[in-house]
Amino acid sequence: MYYRMIQQSFIDMENMFELLDESQEIRDIPDAKNIAVTNGKIEFRNVNFHYEESKKILKDVSFVVPAGQTFALVGHSGSGKSTIIRLLFRFYDVVSGRILIDGQDISLVKQESLRQQIGVVPQDTVLFNADIRYNIRYGNVDADVKQVEEAADNADIHERILSFPDGYNTVVGERGLKLSGGEKQRVAIARTILKNPQIVLLDEATSALDTKTERNIQTSLERVCENRTTIIVAHRLSTIIHAHQILVMKEGVIVERGTHDQLLQVNGFYADMWHQQLTKKEEAGNDKHNGTEDAGSINNDADAS
Ligand code: ADP
Repeated sequence: MYYRMIQQSFIDMENMFELLDESQEIRDIPDAKNIAVTNGKIEFRNVNFHYEESKKILKDVSFVVPAGQTFALVGHSGSGKSTIIRLLFRFYDVVSGRILIDGQDISLVKQESLRQQIGVVPQDTVLFNADIRYNIRYGNVDADVKQVEEAADNADIHERILSFPDGYNTVVGERGLKLSGGEKQRVAIARTILKNPQIVLLDEATSALDTKTERNIQTSLERVCENRTTIIVAHRLSTIIHAHQILVMKEGVIVERGTHDQLLQVNGFYADMWHQQLTKKEEAGNDKHNGTEDAGSINNDADAS
């Protein structure tokens, strides 16, 4: 038994050393400073980017999100929407052009300080196999019990948590499998509220939620975005009607931009997408009523899938 334990420990150590040897792709420049975010204005200036040289992904992308406004990115899958979010979080450096936050080039500041200022509500929330309180507190590890519960309340999940037999001590299971899709997203929203960043990046879930859940989540999201600069990667156009500006992407280029009404008047690519979604919704018709997502309990495994 000891022989096996020692052997396993050696294997684990080897794996750990391999991980430590991984070189960091994105490095801070020497004496990089912390970013100072005051208003949260975001600017993309002639940004070009590719993952592999043979395939250009973003081509001369420029836009400015004024402080506190909400911009939405729409376009078919593969058009480069998520890439914009990844660049802003500096998972990659741009090939040419600049990304500025409050006038500071993000490639010249400390990555850690940049990421502290940005809250992300991803499509798929990463949850730890620990209790819900711990999972929400991940947004700000210094938060006390009261702050965690306030954030949960704002994300419209507090009551739900209290209805679980173990309340905030409920363990969420491996990758949160005991929570439904809507609940997981609300945990992500609560984390972001707790983090209280000036900038919020939101990757809307593609998975179909039933109408009631969608509406509830929409309300909590609006609360998160209030007075914060927000960029939403939108899949359902109905959720971004009120965005200050919609950027329509096609093959790495912004082909149209404007408010919902302006874009409908242009009667171009966006208007096409809008009419397509409307038709789909009408076809789906009453099917939506079959959605059980929000009615499910924490043990509803059908939801967890
Ligand atoms: P969207 O969010 O609009 O669906 P993405 O920004 O995810 O699009 O992707 C844009 C393009 O970049 C796609 O063609 C995709 O195949 C490619 N891509 C995304 N991530 C990578 C990666 N890590 N390496 C290589 N190509 C990638």
